[in-house]
Amino acid sequence: MQPNLIDIPPVYYPFDSNEPFKECLVCGTDLTLGTRDYFVEKAIKNHVEFKVKDVVFEYAMCSECAEKMQKSMSEESQQNMQNYFLQHENFMQKVQEFQIGEGGPIDEVLSKCSITGEAIDDMGEYMMFGHFRGGKMVATTMPYVIGGKAMDEISELMSNKTLDEMNGFMGQYFGGPPELENLWKGKPVFL
Ligand SMILES: [Zn+2]
Repeated sequence: MQPNLIDIPPVYYPFDSNEPFKECLVCGTDLTLGTRDYFVEKAIKNHVEFKVKDVVFEYAMCSECAEKMQKSMSEESQQNMQNYFLQHENFMQKVQEFQIGEGGPIDEVLSKCSITGEAIDDMGEYMMFGHFRGGKMVATTMPYVIGGKAMDEISELMSNKTLDEMNGFMGQYFGGPPELENLWKGKPVFL
């Protein structure tokens, strides 16, 4: 089946750019060529009362690096996570609609948590995920948005080993302000 390719919503660009991500965070491979798919993950802190959103971290990772990272997750964690998504029918239904090109407008999809349906404007934190090929978005199981509540549920399904791996990854690439560490410690980085 041909994947459904759509224009990249600018919200998936780096926060200080008007163009899509250009290279893989881990191996530096050129993502603009479209020869290797990539994923973007963004963590947003939303100051609800001020209507101000900060990007806590963001990156693009090529499919090869993502696969390596996934292999470093314990099998138990992978299985638990897969089950979690499967159990949420809204999520699975949306995925299918998107894959056949019948998903709702992308802005609407990205306006709420894909698991709980809570509006992003009402959530203190959320994460966004997307799958891309060169200058296009690929509709697969992504794009989706995971709010703080669902993130907590998912991180509870992770083994300690997996959480350690993820924290190691975060420390290596985003060992930044302590605020970030407090906020995202133990939160999943998943693809
Ligand atoms: Zn890479």
